[in-house]
Amino acid sequence: MLLPTLVQAQWYRYTDTAMTTSIDLEFWAEDRAFAERTANRVLSVFHQVDQQMSRYREDSELSRVNREAAGHPVKVSSGLLRVLQKARMVSDLSNGAFDISFGSVGYLYDYRAKQQPTDEDIASHLGQINYRDIVLDEENSSVAYRQQGLLVDLGGIAKGYAVDLGVGILKKAGVRHARLSAGGDMRLIGDRRGRPWVVGVRDPRTEDRNAVVLPLVDTAVSTSGDYERFFIDEAGNRIHHIIAPGTGKPVRGVQSVTILGEDALTTDGLSTAVFVLGSEQGLEMINRLPGIDAIIIDEHRRMHYSEGLQPPESVN
Ligand code: AMP
Ligand code: MG
Repeated sequence: MLLPTLVQAQWYRYTDTAMTTSIDLEFWAEDRAFAERTANRVLSVFHQVDQQMSRYREDSELSRVNREAAGHPVKVSSGLLRVLQKARMVSDLSNGAFDISFGSVGYLYDYRAKQQPTDEDIASHLGQINYRDIVLDEENSSVAYRQQGLLVDLGGIAKGYAVDLGVGILKKAGVRHARLSAGGDMRLIGDRRGRPWVVGVRDPRTEDRNAVVLPLVDTAVSTSGDYERFFIDEAGNRIHHIIAPGTGKPVRGVQSVTILGEDALTTDGLSTAVFVLGSEQGLEMINRLPGIDAIIIDEHRRMHYSEGLQPPESVN
């Protein structure tokens, strides 16, 4: 009997590094050539978005906007405009807890070199944090800053955008079972062929331990944590990468926030926003948003769930 040698229906898994994080792709495909081709296209998206939206690259589109937009409106790609629009929405929703202009102070931190700004440094730049000074002109696809010195950083939202683009490619190619993640931002297409995907929310203080595992299908999941980029300073404080726009300092009160929703652009923005808002105000915001849920682990390691994740009350 002839064996169909070219047909290899199985799970395929690919990894890469881009956007200063690890990219992980797993999907079910009918043959290897298709899987390779599709994976290459999906992974290249993360390098493209990095080229567009990285603040570490002098030649990125975002860096050009940061250099020029205080002087005159700068034309931007439809992708960058879309991310800036969503950032604006999340800022409005969260009363400015999410604010991409936090970079004005955020850039003064160097986590690798374990350096943080002095209180005077922070005070002299704090006035430059204000998302309302980022003016979007949708019709002309341009952006202008109302203030010199304002610096935008999309680290809290760009990975989710890239994950959505990758999922778009997978779906268009006909893939029906997939998991695609970039660091803490993940999307699931379909299920794991008859079973749900199992997504772990890690223990914020123990790398290889899960605080909870969630069986999920067709969902976007984003986690923000104070363990992603941090150092402990001489006073013993954890200096991490999520900054309160009001103080210019790392947010206290929460160790991690996980958001469930439909698309990763939204869940990515919201996870950072809820981290800044804290468990009480964060849950208040999430409970008002249809189709969005949250799991928060606070500084005492207590877990807080949004209303959609509460067990239903028993009937009798
Ligand atoms: P995430 O892991 O999605 O929560 O993103 C964390 C990243 O968001 C940080 O590394 C910063 O680039 C960015 N960020 C920090 N603080 C804020 C803030 N208050 N609003 C928006 N983005 C922020
Ligand atoms: Mg985020």
